[in-house]
Amino acid sequence: MLNAADLAELKVLLGENGVVASEAALFTYEADALTVARRPPDAVVLPRSTDEVCALVRWARAKKLPVVPRGAGTGLAGGATTEQGGLSLSLNRMDQVLRVDEARMFAWVQPGLVNLWLSQQLAPKKLYFAPDPASQQVSTIGGNVSTNAGGPHCLKYGVTFNHVLGAVVVLADGTAVTLGGEAPDSPGLDLLSVVSGSEGTCAIVTEICVRLLPLPEGVKTLLFDFDSIDAACRTVSRVIAGGIVPAAMEIMDQHTTQLVEDWLHIGLPTDAAAVLLIEVDGPAVTLEPQAQKIAAIAREHGARSERIAKDADERLLLWKGRKSAFGAYGRLASGFTIMDGVVPRTRLAEALANVYKFAAEKQLDAGNVFHAGDGNLHPLVLFDDAIEGQAEHAEEASGAILDLCIEHGGSITGEHGVGIDKAAYMPRMFSDDDLDTMQLVRCAFDPQSISNPGKVFPTPRLCGEVPGRKKGAPPLQEAGLAEVF
Ligand SMILES: Cc1cc2nc3c(=O)[nH]c(=O)nc-3n(C[C@H](O)[C@H](O)[C@H](O)COP(=O)(O)OP(=O)(O)OC[C@H]3O[C@@H](n4cnc5c(N)ncnc54)[C@H](O)[C@@H]3O)c2cc1C
Repeated sequence: MLNAADLAELKVLLGENGVVASEAALFTYEADALTVARRPPDAVVLPRSTDEVCALVRWARAKKLPVVPRGAGTGLAGGATTEQGGLSLSLNRMDQVLRVDEARMFAWVQPGLVNLWLSQQLAPKKLYFAPDPASQQVSTIGGNVSTNAGGPHCLKYGVTFNHVLGAVVVLADGTAVTLGGEAPDSPGLDLLSVVSGSEGTCAIVTEICVRLLPLPEGVKTLLFDFDSIDAACRTVSRVIAGGIVPAAMEIMDQHTTQLVEDWLHIGLPTDAAAVLLIEVDGPAVTLEPQAQKIAAIAREHGARSERIAKDADERLLLWKGRKSAFGAYGRLASGFTIMDGVVPRTRLAEALANVYKFAAEKQLDAGNVFHAGDGNLHPLVLFDDAIEGQAEHAEEASGAILDLCIEHGGSITGEHGVGIDKAAYMPRMFSDDDLDTMQLVRCAFDPQSISNPGKVFPTPRLCGEVPGRKKGAPPLQEAGLAEVF
């Protein structure tokens, strides 16, 4: 707990409005979108500049307090939760576009800038920022960089990391350094790649140089519906194998489609086993031939009907449906887990059959909405919080799904990150040596482990333990202070 003198010191650094510490206010910051993991911070601090972040980190370091960076708190892995207390360092007051270089097609932005605001501000210049997580109306670019966020259009354009040229980051000793830069490549070790996706465990990102793209000349959005989810998945693989890489390929199963339609009334076919949303973009003359080829493949695989968005409004409506899917579940279930795993897209159908099976074995319902082109699954396992044991069963089913992703040669996360949620699964995917090597790198950035401690890496591999081949149980485990998952 911070005492009055601590809070007074923080207010000297940040001003009266830069520190929040009342019990009611801290409640807002006690979790991110993984609401099962909760712990209020000792204080929330809201810096306005890189200099203020440096000062805060130096202050926290002297007090040996954890510092947990926070964007919009939409993370689904518990990354922004102050699991060990300390400061929740909210970047929300650093939300400006600092500079746009139209000719060289990049922009410097602050980390608290909401993803969608950037493209909205750039629209008059016919430029945009391509990474588009479904949370883009709320999530911040700093959060996107730190989780290496994906999104529907990352199939064609790549994930956030592919759109970051450079960043100013504050290290655990309170100094600011620039990684990467405005040029397309920087010599030396690529430390920007280490920080991207490190979920706040290496450094705090305070300025970002993002790559901009020209708005595509045209776009065509198509919706197909199928009697089986297998047929929708096979269509996805076949389109890409046929040489077309659409901008996006998204599938919603019947459960999801029904919930979205009940909520938004956008004319989705609720009797279909699956709907497949495909978007192609690029030079206007290329769109119709691509759409025709895709439609032919979909029909070959049993598509019952196709709907082509006739204008920008209909396109937005179809995307609103897809991007509201998680919210639609939120309206219904008293509880659900959302997994984020990856399988090769050629094995999607097989993986999905197992998702439903694992849930059914626990007498639970499952729904699926996913970035099909990337093989990035988001199975939702629904449970009733009022029924004892159901939440645990949902967790077990979700764990089995992640094991399956690994067995299929995929990954335990495609975009949401590891955070608290998946730290225990890291040893299932990585060897001890892999994890030790990652820890060595992390400790080089943050030897005292104050940058978002307790995230990503399974306990008890903490800084201070010497990485390398283990001869016996780790000391913390031997002392009974931590367990190995
Ligand atoms: C409805 C919904 C839909 C979603 N759809 C997608 C999707 O399509 N694709 C996807 O990838 N994710 C998706 N997500 C997950 C989430 O939106 C992303 O992970 C997003 O990138 C998090 O951004 P944020 O600003 O909310 O970050 P937060 O949740 O606040 O933080 C996320 C992590 O980044 C760290 N962090 C935040 N800012 C900084 C910084 N400046 N410096 C260092 N570390 C920092 C935090 O400590 C934490 O570990 C979705 C979430 C929801 C609720």
